[in-house]
Amino acid sequence: MDDKRKELLKGLPKIDEVIGLLEKKGIDAKASREIVLTTCRDVVQKLRDSILAVQDKQLPALSTDAASAARNVEAIIDDLYHYKLKRLVNATGVILHTNLGRAPLCPEALNRIIDVARGYSNLEFDLERGERGLRYDHVSRLICALTGAEDALIVNNNAAAVLLTLNTLADRKEAIVSRGELIEIGGEFRIPDVMTKSNSILREVGTTNRTRLADYEKAIGPNTGVILKVHTSNYRIVGFTEEAELPPLVALGKHHGIPVFDDLGSGCLIDLAAHGLQHEPTVRDVLASGVDVVTFSGDKLLGGPQAGIIVGNKDIVARIKKNPLNRALRIDKFTLAALEATLMHYLTPEDAPRKLRSLKALTEPLRDVKKRARKLINKLKRTNIPDLTFELREDVAAAGGGSLPTENIPTIVVTIKHAKVPSSRMEAKLRHAAVPIIVRVDEDQILLDMRTVAEDEFGFVEDALRQISAN
Ligand SMILES: *Cc1c(COP(=O)(O)O)cnc(C)c1O
Repeated sequence: MDDKRKELLKGLPKIDEVIGLLEKKGIDAKASREIVLTTCRDVVQKLRDSILAVQDKQLPALSTDAASAARNVEAIIDDLYHYKLKRLVNATGVILHTNLGRAPLCPEALNRIIDVARGYSNLEFDLERGERGLRYDHVSRLICALTGAEDALIVNNNAAAVLLTLNTLADRKEAIVSRGELIEIGGEFRIPDVMTKSNSILREVGTTNRTRLADYEKAIGPNTGVILKVHTSNYRIVGFTEEAELPPLVALGKHHGIPVFDDLGSGCLIDLAAHGLQHEPTVRDVLASGVDVVTFSGDKLLGGPQAGIIVGNKDIVARIKKNPLNRALRIDKFTLAALEATLMHYLTPEDAPRKLRSLKALTEPLRDVKKRARKLINKLKRTNIPDLTFELREDVAAAGGGSLPTENIPTIVVTIKHAKVPSSRMEAKLRHAAVPIIVRVDEDQILLDMRTVAEDEFGFVEDALRQISAN
C-alpha cells in the first residue's frame, strides 16, 4: 500500500468524534443511540473501503474529515424519515400494472379501511351471537350472491388460493393438468413449482397445443386428487389447438368422484363483451358449468385489493377452511374492509365500471380518453413552461396483470418533447419527481397514456414538468 493511502487510513475519523459532532447538532432527537452508532460505523467503514479501492487520482477527492462523516450520517438518518412507498402517476397505459400496485382502490374501500382499522372491529366476532366468528363470513354472502357459489373463502392473494386449494385436494395425490396450462405468471409463480410446494404430484396430460378429454380420462387412477384447469392468463396458444371444454371435464370428474378446480387468475364478475372487450367467462359462468372450486384475484379484473378468492361447493370450501395452512395465508382486516366495499359495486353490474377505476380505464370510450388528453394539453400549455411541445395521438394500451393479453385497447397518448432535455433524461427526471410520473419513451419524446391518468392527477404532471424546466 502506498504512503498516501496509509496516511489517509490513519487519519480516519474516530467514531466518538463523529458522534460528538452529531450530538451537538441534536441527533438524539432524530434517532436512538444504537442507530446513530451503527450508522457512524457504516459510514467510517465505507470511507475505509473507498480509500483502499479508488484509483490514485480520485484519492484527493475523498472527504475524510469528521465533519463530512457526521454530515453523511445525518443525511442517512434523515432519509429514514422519507416514505419510500409512495403514490405515483401511472402514465404507462398498462392498467393493472403489477409493479405499480395493480388496481387502485375506490373511495368507498379507502374509507372502509380507515373506519374499520382506526379502532377495534368485529373481524372475528359474531355480533348476533356474541361469540367467536369467522373473518371470511363478512364478505362470503356477498361473494356467493355475485357468483352463485355455495360458499367462499378469502386468502392473501390468488397464488395463496391456488396453493391452499391444491394442498387441500391433492396432498400426496396427483393433480391432472394439461401441458398447455403449465404456465408462469411472473414473479416466481409457476404452476409446476406451486404444485410441488402444495405437496401434490403433477400429472401432465396432452401436448402444448392440444389436450383432449380422453387425455384426462386416461390419466385418472387410484391416486388422482384433482383435475386442474389453469387460465393461461398472460399468453395464448393460437393455431392448431384444442382444449377440453369444461362441461365434459366436469362430467368426467363427477363420474370418477374427482373434484374439478379452475384457477381463473383474473376472474371477472361482469360480462366484458358488453363493454366492447373480448369475452371472458365470468366466475358465475364457470361455477354454473359445475366446476367444484374456482380461485381468482382481488386486484386484477375485479379492481379491488390484493386478495385470493376461493369459491365453490360448500364441502370443499369447508375442507379448505380447516386446512392449517389457511391460518398462514389468511387475509387481514384492511383487505377485507376494502374488498367488501369493492364487491358492493357489483350488486348493480352497470355501476362497477363507473365506480372502479381499473374497470373504468379498461372500458372508457376512446372519445372520453381523448377529451381528457385535450384538457391536459390545454392545462400544460397555459403553464407556459418553456421548451415544451405537446401533441396528441392514437396508440394502444394494455390490461396488464396477466389479464386479457391479446386485447389491444385503443388509447390516446399525449406526447411531450423538450427542446433541450433528451427523452431518456425526461423519463428519469419524471420518475424522480416528488410524486413520480411513470411514462413510456418513444424515441425523442415521452408518452403519457391518458387511459391510466385521471384528471385529478394533472397537477402532479404539471409539477413534475416544472421541476424539469427549473433545473
Ligand atoms: C395472476 C394469476 C395468479 C396469481 O395471482 P396473484 O393474485 O398475483 O397472487 C395465479 N393464477 C393465474 C392463472 C393468474 O393469472
